[in-house]
Amino acid sequence: MTSPLIYDLTFDDLMALVTEAGESDYRARQIWDGLYKNLWQNPDDFTNLSKTLRSKLVELAKFDAVTPIQKLDSADRRTRKTLFKLQDDLSIEAVLMRYDRRQTLCISTQAGCAMGCVFCATGQMGFKRHLTSGEIVAQVLYYARLLSQEGYQVTNVVVMGMGEPFHNYANTLSAIDMLNDPEGYNFGARRFTISTSGLVPAIRRFADERRQVNLAVSLHAVDDDLRSSMMPINKKYNVEELLDACHYYIDRTGRRLTFEWALINGVNDTPEQARKLAQKLKGMLCHVNAIPLNPTNGYSGKSTTHERAVAFKGTLDQAGIPCTVRIRRGIDIQAGCGQLAIGED
Ligand code: SAH
Ligand code: SF4
Repeated sequence: MTSPLIYDLTFDDLMALVTEAGESDYRARQIWDGLYKNLWQNPDDFTNLSKTLRSKLVELAKFDAVTPIQKLDSADRRTRKTLFKLQDDLSIEAVLMRYDRRQTLCISTQAGCAMGCVFCATGQMGFKRHLTSGEIVAQVLYYARLLSQEGYQVTNVVVMGMGEPFHNYANTLSAIDMLNDPEGYNFGARRFTISTSGLVPAIRRFADERRQVNLAVSLHAVDDDLRSSMMPINKKYNVEELLDACHYYIDRTGRRLTFEWALINGVNDTPEQARKLAQKLKGMLCHVNAIPLNPTNGYSGKSTTHERAVAFKGTLDQAGIPCTVRIRRGIDIQAGCGQLAIGED
């Protein structure tokens, strides 16, 4: 049997592993603290353990979940994209966005994506596989270590990198639970945001779990024909079913939902589209995040212009629906929303 990835283990799993190896419970707690409080990376770092136990640890579990193989900084140095290799040689990416007071991390949940949204580079590359919970956790710990060297901490994690998190529901949520552990990394649930392309049963399940994790839904269109042409998932769960599930989420959790809308010139950034959207969202506890489309190789649609984005926001504002037009980040290093892809150039 091959040894497990250390970050795939819950505390109870780790305890079982350690005690089966003839060590006391207390050692499991020391290892857990080392991993999640001290952010130690290699068995050698565990100086609180004996040398014998350290070498035992090498046999018991694998530590190199994600290996950074390329790092790219944007020209303003506020965005860093890291390409990681997984144990099976597939690759994923995670992006750090630095603001004055926030250090926001965007992480991946799958290598590739099966949803096939036409405007998204990850969708254009197809689905490779789900990440394990440990591979998701390891992306956060990697950046946490990096930031701690400069005296900073990760303040927010958006699950908006490669992949559809609700297609990999169990692993995504157990990664969040793991990082949330008050006796470990202790990262508050409210500081996570999961973005989904609209997997209706998963949204309802998530609502029923009544977690404090934030939810964002990628809407991009409210006409079924238009949305289906952009996002194949709409053929399975149409706009009405999706918005019903969103209402359900808000009712169950009392939390404000974010809708994402990539503004594509002449496609979904028109005054008519803005009016239709405003009509659909009327009275809903929500917020619209409008993101000028980022260019990708496989899609010919063009980004909105500043004027059109402002007009779009104006229509929503007038209807009482809060809307933010997001500044594009990391475009020069292909680290913007929907630009993460491996081996496409
Ligand atoms: N799979 C999830 C999360 C990852 S994508 C989802 O689709 O929600 C993160 C966000 O980027 C989504 O809102 C997605 O629709 C958006 N996006 C994808 N491609 C984009 C592009 N080329 N320009 C701008 N936003 C894009
Ligand atoms: Fe997948 Fe999200 Fe890209 Fe759609 S936008 S293909 S769901 S990663």
